[in-house]
Amino acid sequence: MNKQEYETKLLSTSYPKQDPYGALSIPVYHALAYEFETAEEMEAAFCGWTDEHTYSRITNPTVQYFEERVKRVTGAYGVTALNSGMAAISNTLITLAWSGSNLVTSRHLFGNTYSFFVNTLKAFGMEVRFCDLTRPEEVAESIDENTCAVFLEIITNPQMEVANLEGLSNVAHDRNVPLIADTTIIPFTAFHAADFGVDIEVVSSTKYISGGATSLGGLIIDYGRFDQYRAPALKALAGSAQSPFHTRLRKEVHRNLGAYMTPDVACMQTLGLETLQIRFDRQAVSCMDLALKLQTLSKVRMVNYNGLENNPFYEVSRKQFGDYPGAMLTFDLGSREECFAFMNKLKLIRRATNLFDNRSLIIHPASTIFGSFTAAQREMMNVEETTIRLSVGLENVEELFGDICQALG
Ligand SMILES: *Cc1c(COP(=O)(O)O)cnc(C)c1O
Repeated sequence: MNKQEYETKLLSTSYPKQDPYGALSIPVYHALAYEFETAEEMEAAFCGWTDEHTYSRITNPTVQYFEERVKRVTGAYGVTALNSGMAAISNTLITLAWSGSNLVTSRHLFGNTYSFFVNTLKAFGMEVRFCDLTRPEEVAESIDENTCAVFLEIITNPQMEVANLEGLSNVAHDRNVPLIADTTIIPFTAFHAADFGVDIEVVSSTKYISGGATSLGGLIIDYGRFDQYRAPALKALAGSAQSPFHTRLRKEVHRNLGAYMTPDVACMQTLGLETLQIRFDRQAVSCMDLALKLQTLSKVRMVNYNGLENNPFYEVSRKQFGDYPGAMLTFDLGSREECFAFMNKLKLIRRATNLFDNRSLIIHPASTIFGSFTAAQREMMNVEETTIRLSVGLENVEELFGDICQALG
């Protein structure tokens, strides 16, 4: 699909049942339960013989419409919308894992993802194996018959490391292990994870998709191509469904964990989806422009953006994500004190966490997102005291650069 087709597709999915008033946008169904004409119809819906709605923890028309639109844009087999990116990650892992299984991943992870793996999953008898995902040999050595998945972030934050997905998926698939990718940082309109061997994509739709930081959300996008799952509960489903993963997720795990997206959020995120491509294009082009401009400043010791030719991941990033690898960059100043002084002088760029708001946001990761980790843990995760992270918004890029220059003094 080319860019123009995405722009149109993002806007043109109609909803399945005609609204009595002919509403052009899908109504927000604040309904919790759904009524049936007969006990037989009720039985059929509850037993899954029809796909009528029964209860909004399981499905809701507004949320389902959002899922359908993502499905249409990505070409996925199954899409599940949850109430945060963390819910998407935890539901995915709980569907794949079993007690005694292990997960192969890297230490370069979003802070809560790392904590979920090493603290929460551990309590259920799961082992987490860290390796350098840019070295497929290391990954191959870490996988054994109890590995439930290989998990990675397509661009790590704030290290900006990029693994070769095709290489990694070959290693994982050779050993019958699925590759799970957190693709939050580049939306699916710009990066087609399945083309690079990713089996299941997880996304914090809180970021680009919510459309201006309106709401928390998460997506699990299953391409339905992997069926060699090792979890006993998934093996039991093999053959009976195209995707044992999607079946177990929808019929068991997501119902039991109860983290389905709410209809208001689905409405906001459907609107966000409609402008996703345009916002991403503009923000990513501005980010590249700022990365080049920042390199010319003497007080900036280093700029880390995969779109720069001097970046160690430039080639692999270009192959996977194209010329504009997202709208987040990091840069280093001389010291933590210099970082704080600089941030305090900014007038236009906001001091806030989050990524891909319409406004540009700045944060010092070591003292905030990674503030509760020990210095030794931060060092292991390559989170430096001198690094500042910038998420580039929709403002005029000259004014953004002007703000940075005045704050650097
Ligand atoms: C923000 C983020 C998450 C968590 O998403 P929430 O919606 O805040 O739960 C997970 N992974 C990445 C890469 C993120 O940036």
